[in-house]
Amino acid sequence: MKIVSSIAETRSVLGELCGPDRLTGPRGVGFVPTMGALHEGHRSLIQAARRTCDVVVASIFVNPKQFAPNEDFSRYPRTLEADCRMLETEGVDLLFTPSEQTMYPAGATTFVEVAGVSDRLDGASRPGHFRGVATVVAKLFHIVQPELAFFGQKDAAQLAVLRQMVRDLDLPVKLVACPIVREHDGLAMSSRNRYLSDQERRQALAIFRGLQTASQLFQDGERRADVLLRAVQNCLRQEPALREDYVALVDADTLLPLENAEHGGLLAVAAYVGTTRLIDNASLPSAP
Ligand code: AMP
Repeated sequence: MKIVSSIAETRSVLGELCGPDRLTGPRGVGFVPTMGALHEGHRSLIQAARRTCDVVVASIFVNPKQFAPNEDFSRYPRTLEADCRMLETEGVDLLFTPSEQTMYPAGATTFVEVAGVSDRLDGASRPGHFRGVATVVAKLFHIVQPELAFFGQKDAAQLAVLRQMVRDLDLPVKLVACPIVREHDGLAMSSRNRYLSDQERRQALAIFRGLQTASQLFQDGERRADVLLRAVQNCLRQEPALREDYVALVDADTLLPLENAEHGGLLAVAAYVGTTRLIDNASLPSAP
């Protein structure tokens, strides 16, 4: 695996890896952008890319523009050595680890604003977050120029924002959504799980229980949003230490609220356990 931190090196290594047939290559370049502190969720994205693509590129960049000043940017876990071992084991061809200066040189003033969808769910709770996400992902897409880019369904709102961005800007990349990878007890894997004490870790399980309870109700035929949402909220309230940020049933593309799940929907949760904000979701399928 080549590890590079400049844009020029990335382009030159990609030129070598892809050869002169890049445009006509059969499966092309697969890209997995991450913020590092890699876990099995990230590994599943890399494996999906490896199965599908000729060349696999990963990036690790803790993007300051998607953190508000009161958020955890400075203490976000950074575990580059272990991350490199995982990426190497999974057969990644190229790792791009840019500095802040490389991604945002002094004087850069351009942002990507995906209006509307960026203000919903996490975007409502974290103003400016998706502007930072869209900007960095657009830049990374321009640097790597992947045919396919792999993202986790865990960050369902992020996927909605990026799908809209790709459509609106006619970016020549296909986004591939990969399933949520969970711990053995159901907790969605997240780099932020490292912040949790043992007790908080147990409390956090209420999020998964809530989603499971509502998904079961849905399977049993319940379609009313208020009933499904109350089922999730009741589970969250059984853990008084857990503070709900949002519990919502929305359209997976627009993130607009749904009154019922007659045509399926995305059941999404964000909650604080102590100071750690966790997100999770369940897709309610539309009838075949
Ligand atoms: P992050 O490093 O948190 O920015 O995440 C990088 C990518 O990994 C994003 O596309 C996330 O959606 C994805 N991801 C994070 N956690 C999981 C998980 N538990 N299962 C699947 N994908 C995940």
